[in-house]
Amino acid sequence: MSRRAVVIGAGLAGMLAAAVLSAAGADEVIVLDRDELPEGPEHRKGLPQGRHAHLLMAGGMDAMEELLPAAGLRKRLLAAGAHEIPLSSGMLALTPDGWLRRWRREGPAMLTCSRALVDWVVREAVREQTPVRVRRVAAVGLTGSAERVRGVRVATPGGDTDIEADLVVDASGRGTRVVSWLGGLGLTGVRERAVDSGLVNASRVYRVPDGAERFPLTVVQANPYVSRPARSAMVMPIEGGRWLVSCGGSRGGEPPADPEGFLRYALDLPDPIVGRLISGAEPLGDVHLSRSTSNVRRYLEKLPRWPEGFVVLGDALATFNPAYGHGMSVAAFGARVLGRELGRSSGGLGGLGAPGLARRVVRGAARAADAAWSMAVSQDVRYPGVRGGRPTVGDRVVTAYSRRMMKAATGSYAAASVIWDVTSLRAAPTRMFRPGAVLAAVAGSPLPRSAEPPLTEGERAVLRALDRSGL
Ligand SMILES: Cc1cc2nc3c(=O)[nH]c(=O)nc-3n(C[C@H](O)[C@H](O)[C@H](O)COP(=O)(O)OP(=O)(O)OC[C@H]3O[C@@H](n4cnc5c(N)ncnc54)[C@H](O)[C@@H]3O)c2cc1C
Repeated sequence: MSRRAVVIGAGLAGMLAAAVLSAAGADEVIVLDRDELPEGPEHRKGLPQGRHAHLLMAGGMDAMEELLPAAGLRKRLLAAGAHEIPLSSGMLALTPDGWLRRWRREGPAMLTCSRALVDWVVREAVREQTPVRVRRVAAVGLTGSAERVRGVRVATPGGDTDIEADLVVDASGRGTRVVSWLGGLGLTGVRERAVDSGLVNASRVYRVPDGAERFPLTVVQANPYVSRPARSAMVMPIEGGRWLVSCGGSRGGEPPADPEGFLRYALDLPDPIVGRLISGAEPLGDVHLSRSTSNVRRYLEKLPRWPEGFVVLGDALATFNPAYGHGMSVAAFGARVLGRELGRSSGGLGGLGAPGLARRVVRGAARAADAAWSMAVSQDVRYPGVRGGRPTVGDRVVTAYSRRMMKAATGSYAAASVIWDVTSLRAAPTRMFRPGAVLAAVAGSPLPRSAEPPLTEGERAVLRALDRSGL
């Protein structure tokens, strides 16, 4: 009997899930997207967050390479102009406790490029390596029962029609209707939690000025320890000789969309370096705002009953404040869980009939989101005006310890390595509590706090030459 899988959403979670399903032996994998997908690395309407900075963490990149092993995704991204940024040396970062030192030693690296490039490279690789089909159509519901999902209802010009499937994956992102779709099957009572710091992201693209091509990624981080709104900014190199500059501010500290206000915002941060850099750079478009930034968790894995033949991945399952740069990586982790569970169930996709398999995937994907969720929420609950949460005693203890580690990391390589491993999602947060890590946190930074960014002579000259801020 032919086996068909239908994936709702051709974003990152959807295309990676489609690749996994194809590799597991599905006869037919159809990806549905209501948006028109561009032929190149271009921005599209259905992915509004694509205007904003997207860091691809090492843990997420590793997972993507594992899911499409023959595609050489990292190489393709680099060939298309993405930048590989070693966290130990390629980044200038002002933390609430001072500038992080730069080290000559190796550490994990993140990739930076436009979100459109990440999606296009993954989409092309999936198209080349699998017979996955993409159809432009909007999903409007599920068919089947509370025991088994049997397909997807889609809106077509002639009215709604049904596409049958042995497995349906909801990867329709932050705006998913999964709760009401499940309700339509008689599955109600999904517990949801939203923790919303009211973060607004404002982003603008600039041409990298001559001579500044090798200037490091620069970030002024938000400070969750001062009972004031979060305010941050980042200059991130992307393909095409461009900088993507994003400012982020939580409720009461939102960045504006007008160009002068945007520059002023960056200059007024605890260090004006981002503003100074862009004051002399040529903008290549307007400032774009995003307010889709709350942390939202749908605890689908806790429903007492779960239908066979239906899984939920990526932002549809959990979304995070983008300031932490984890959403794409968690989307890849979810697809990896799907692949592993399919591999475990004898007979690949045929094994999906095995009772409980879909539920195991949802539980595994939820577990894979836990680390990113707790990192984001434990900080966001500290900002004034946050909705949906207050710091618990546990949060306070963990935050105090994380702060101590971060303070140590400003001048201790051992502590900095712990922070890199955890924030790049290469290691679980428990890495912070291993004996070596505890020792590094307790020992603190052997070097004094640096008030100045750790720039080389050449970088200082570039900054001076660009600076039109008058500061
Ligand atoms: C401002 C901002 C900055 C961010 N920065 C980072 C970052 O630095 N690093 C990081 O890792 N993550 C970041 N993220 C998070 C990241 O964008 C998401 O986690 C990621 O896009 C999740 O992928 P997804 O495939 O689940 O959803 P999406 O990428 O949103 O894809 C969903 C797809 O489903 C389609 N769709 C929706 N509804 C339907 C329907 N009914 N029928 C058919 N198709 C449908 C949409 O058209 C879209 O193509 C950021 C997010 C925001 C908002």
